[in-house]
Amino acid sequence: MKETSLVLVTGGAGYIGSHITLSLLEAGHGVVVFDNLSNSSAESISRIEKICGKKPHFVMGDIRDKQALSNLFNRYHIDSVIHCAGLKAVGESVKDPLTYFSNNLVGSVTLLEAMARANIFRLVFSSSATVYGDSPNMPVNEKHPTAAPTNPYGRSKLMVEDVLRDLATSDQRWSIATARYFNPIGAHSSGLIGEAPNGIPNNLVPYISQVAIGKLKKLQIFGGDYPTPDGTGVRDYIHVMDLAQGHLKALHAISLKNGLNIWNFGSGKGYSVLELLDAFENASGKKIPYDIVARRAGDIPKCWANTDKARQELGWRAEKNLNDMMIDTWRWQKNNPTGYN
Ligand code: NAD
Ligand code: UDP
Repeated sequence: MKETSLVLVTGGAGYIGSHITLSLLEAGHGVVVFDNLSNSSAESISRIEKICGKKPHFVMGDIRDKQALSNLFNRYHIDSVIHCAGLKAVGESVKDPLTYFSNNLVGSVTLLEAMARANIFRLVFSSSATVYGDSPNMPVNEKHPTAAPTNPYGRSKLMVEDVLRDLATSDQRWSIATARYFNPIGAHSSGLIGEAPNGIPNNLVPYISQVAIGKLKKLQIFGGDYPTPDGTGVRDYIHVMDLAQGHLKALHAISLKNGLNIWNFGSGKGYSVLELLDAFENASGKKIPYDIVARRAGDIPKCWANTDKARQELGWRAEKNLNDMMIDTWRWQKNNPTGYN
C-alpha cells in the first residue's frame, strides 16, 4: 500500500541531502531518498536513523534513468521533490563537461518529465549563488541579473534555472522553488553526518578540517590581493542545518502557491578566508599552517546574500553563527577522520 505524502529527496545520501532528509523526518514527513551513490555512501542513511530513530526509504538509482524514475513514482506516493542530485566539482566540470551536463542538466530534465508524467508538480531545486557571477554590489538579492558562469558546473545550474522558469510559465500546475545556496558548511550537531568529500577536497572548509586532522599538510589560500579588507576572498557561509530548515519552509510555501519562486539561502554575512581560518582555529584548538598563493582561476573576490526575501516570504533566517559552524565541522571531522568509511 502507498504511504501518504512522501517527499522525494534526490541526492539524499549526499552532504546537503542527508541533512535535509533528517530535518524532513524530524518534522514528521515521510521521505524517499533516490541516489546513485556516485559521491556518497549508504552509511549516511543509517546514520540518519541513528540520530532520529526514523528511516527514509532508500532507492539506489540514477536521475537519468527514465524507467527507474517511473518505477519510483509508481511505487511511492510522492507529492513533492527536493532535487539535490548532481555533480558539483568546478574543476572536474571543466575537464569533463559532458558528464556535468548529463548529470545536472539531462538528469534534471529527465526527472521533471517523470514528475509531470506522475502528476507531481512541486519541486525545490538546489541551485547556487554561482549564477550571480562577479558583482561589484554586495549583498546580492534575487533580482540581481544572473551572469554568464565561468565554468560548465555553473552553466549547468543556470540552464536548469532557465528550464524551470520556462516550465512554470508553460503550465500553472508547477510550483517551483529555486534555492540559491551560498556556501553551505558545518554538520549536524551529533557529529554523525557531515561532508565526506572523495579525494582531496576542493572547498575551503573540508580542506582546513583535513589539515587539522593531519590528512593534509598545509592550506593554500588562493589570493591575498583581492580588494577585500584583508586581501583574501569573502564568502557567505551558511550552516547546513539552517539550509535544511530553509528547504522545509520553501516546501511549505510552494504547497500554498504555484509558479516560480527564487530564494537566496545564505547567512547574509561575508567572511574572509583568514577570518574563517581564525574561527576554525578557535573552535578546534588546532593551528592550521598556510601559504598565500596565486588566485584560483574563476574565483570572484566577494559574494554574500541579501536574505530579505526569504525572511519576508518564508519567515526563515540563518540562526547559527560562524563559531557554531566551525564547532560542528570539527566534531564531525574528528569523529569521522575517514568520512563514512
Ligand atoms: P554531494 O555530492 O554530497 O551530494 C549530491 C548527491 O547526488 C550525491 O549523493 C550523489 O551520489 C548524488 N548524485 C549525483 N549524480 C546523481 C545522479 N545522476 N543520479 C542520482 N544521484 C546522483 O553534494 P552536496 O554538497 O550535497 O550538493 C547537493 C546539491 O547542492 C548539488 O546539486 C550541488 O550542486 C548543490 N550545491 C552545493 C553547494 C555546496 O557548496 N555543497 C553549493 C551550491 C549548490
Ligand atoms: N579557498 C582557498 N583555499 C582552498 C579552497 C578555497 O583559499 O583550498 C578560498 C577560495 O578562493 C574562496 C573561498 O576559499 O575565496 C571559498 O572557496 P570554496 O571553494 O569553499 O567555495 P566557492 O565560493 O568557491 O564555491
